[in-house]
Amino acid sequence: METTRQFPVKGMHCASCANIITRTLKKVPGVSSVEVNYGTETAKVSFDHGTTTPDHLSQALSPLGYSLTTSAQEMNMSEDEHAAHLGLAQSKKDKIAELASMKAKLISVIPLALFSVLVMSWDIFAQFKLVPEMNEVWKEFFHHLLPIFATYTLFIVGLPYVQAVYRFMRYGKANMDTLIGIGTLAAFIYSFVISAFEDTLRPYLNVEYSYYDVTIVVIAFITLGKYLEAKSKLRTGSAIEKLLNLQAKTALVVREGKEVEIPIQEVKHGDVIVVKPGSKIPVDGIVVDGSSFIDESMISGEPVPVEKKKDDIVIAGTLNTTGSFTFTATKVGSETMLAAIIKMVQNAQGSKAPIQALADKISSVFVPVVLVLSFIALIAWLGFGTQYLGFSQALSYGLVSFVGILVIACPCALGLATPTAIIVGVGKGAGEGILIKDAATLEKLHHVTTVVVDKTGTVTKGKPELVSIDTQNGMSEDEVIGILASLEAKSEHPIAHAIVTYAQEKHISTKPVGSFESIKGKGLKGVIDGVEYYAGNVKLVDDLGLDVDTALIETSTKEGKTPVILATKKEVVGIVMVADAIKAEAKESIDKLHKLGIKVIMLTGDNKNTARFIADQVGIDEVVAEVLPQDKMDKIKALQHAGEKVAMTGDGINDAPALAQADVGIAMATGTDVAIESAGIILLNGDISKLSKAIRLSVFTMRGIKQNLFWAFIYNIIGIPIASGIFYPLFGWMLSPVFAGAAMAFSSVSVVLNSLRLKNKKL
Ligand code: ADP
Ligand code: MG
Repeated sequence: METTRQFPVKGMHCASCANIITRTLKKVPGVSSVEVNYGTETAKVSFDHGTTTPDHLSQALSPLGYSLTTSAQEMNMSEDEHAAHLGLAQSKKDKIAELASMKAKLISVIPLALFSVLVMSWDIFAQFKLVPEMNEVWKEFFHHLLPIFATYTLFIVGLPYVQAVYRFMRYGKANMDTLIGIGTLAAFIYSFVISAFEDTLRPYLNVEYSYYDVTIVVIAFITLGKYLEAKSKLRTGSAIEKLLNLQAKTALVVREGKEVEIPIQEVKHGDVIVVKPGSKIPVDGIVVDGSSFIDESMISGEPVPVEKKKDDIVIAGTLNTTGSFTFTATKVGSETMLAAIIKMVQNAQGSKAPIQALADKISSVFVPVVLVLSFIALIAWLGFGTQYLGFSQALSYGLVSFVGILVIACPCALGLATPTAIIVGVGKGAGEGILIKDAATLEKLHHVTTVVVDKTGTVTKGKPELVSIDTQNGMSEDEVIGILASLEAKSEHPIAHAIVTYAQEKHISTKPVGSFESIKGKGLKGVIDGVEYYAGNVKLVDDLGLDVDTALIETSTKEGKTPVILATKKEVVGIVMVADAIKAEAKESIDKLHKLGIKVIMLTGDNKNTARFIADQVGIDEVVAEVLPQDKMDKIKALQHAGEKVAMTGDGINDAPALAQADVGIAMATGTDVAIESAGIILLNGDISKLSKAIRLSVFTMRGIKQNLFWAFIYNIIGIPIASGIFYPLFGWMLSPVFAGAAMAFSSVSVVLNSLRLKNKKL
């Protein structure tokens, strides 16, 4: 049986590791697909359970210095939600421990690096007579001290790099660490040979000059860079942690008439749960008694507490304010909306944005290419350099450029550029009630040129109310409502809800309905007391070939009302008008979309006049009304043919095909229903103001990624030629490996920091 699991990977220190892990895992029999993400340090593997096991997979990686975290206990949200909760805390603990050991090494190596820099610069300053020449005793002393420092630095602090060189020689697999390892080891060995055979080599080489300091300083810089990188990377993932912490640990349930506090895992469906003022809602459920205002901002981003009374849905992780109430648990553990949100955010954060494909391709060929380049540089120096500078000097410069290229060419920043920004972007979205299914969706959203919105529930509140009743052909108002409500009781349309609610308020009873059928985009029909009734819009009446009071419909629709016409096969018996209030934030949100240069089109099955009226109220550019559900998809296609990149919002039920057709489908989630398949983005609370926020989020994230990629590339593009020394004959430029190390550390750190900047952007 094939399963897909996401494993945290240990030992993943750089972007090129992702390629090695992918290639190695793919070779394991039974593995069908592998996706490794450096940003989240996870591997998503699809494999056949009969042929291989997670432990096998981990073993395949161990000679290369990696391992998978395979036990269910440590997995996030995989088997059982609560174990997962602990799991994430666990894996973070590991990371914090790793960070602490990195810090300890860093602290030990910094004084050594400072010392080396001081000794190095003393020589330079002395040349310019800024400081007195160092006396022989000191010189001799440092001469012997540096090798000791360098040995410690390379073989204790820099052990992972030395190990990477060993693995390269043994298994032929090179990663970023290999480059750094070869570079620093070469500098060390050269220096060691010089010091050991000083007298023998004196006639041939400049034995006064060793590169112990290079080894020390480069490793110190890289350790510093990795430490800062790991520290900031921990912060990029904070959104998940925030969400996990929303989960209450216990619940107050009524058992045998008494309130008892039980651990959250023991809450079952149907349990009656008591919520006291100021406490967290432990699981999803429906209010049975009492009422209160609940702060749902942590999930929906909506700052104003929402009133909850009998029959309203409450969501796990939200916070009760001052009231108190009881509710029945309907969704527990991994079924809760909170769990669904966390799963979605995790998946999205671990997914790859298309823009990353290029960076991946480059970093996969980078390591071998750089290795070759560095050797070419060394050989070229020895070849050409010897003619002009003599062998000793040429070897010395060749070595400098060999080490410099290896060190500066790290594609770490390249590997971090996309995933860190995606992690922060997706996480920030979740905090605002914008759930993004995957990185590709987030990327696509910033190209959008046209947003198609539906009317009901997006521009309007989606809770229409009955505003007038007009009877015809001798039926009474109560009769009309009675029949309409009986039919509409079977429908899910918001209009139906308005009519049923009205009938309930007026205590008008409903009758049994036979042969009920809903007529897509038009209305519905059914048999009551032996008579076949139709209820719906003008199209429906036209289909029946009946006459209708067009003057009434014309005036009412122009005021934004929607007519519901009740008719038999022979005649129209009543017309009721429903009106749906426009959302307070609709106009401002549409203005914001306009400011982003985006055209807004309203696509609705409702009456043309009604739609136009509402569109004008909020400043929508274009209206396409009276569209049948099956035609909505074609409208989207037509827009795409005209070259538009279309994002569409819909309620996700009858709009599913159109949502899937759109470049980006945006579903407005209501209640706890976040499992909307056809959409790439889900806006919690169905708030239209989130539409512009989602697009701005995408714009900011993509801008961040592009800046990151630019900086990551530019370092290498400029750094490699300078380090190779090709400018030396022209300008005398040489890049000291020490600066290469600093630049490399700085590039990774700056990329992560740039991604983190996104957190504070106002959407
Ligand atoms: P929309 O979601 O844009 O309203 P629909 O296809 O759901 O599009 O509905 C189109 C139109 O069909 C509605 O505006 C309404 O006039 C009519 N209609 C649909 N369902 C019903 C219903 N249950 N009762 C009355 N009219 C309905
Ligand atoms: Mg609809």
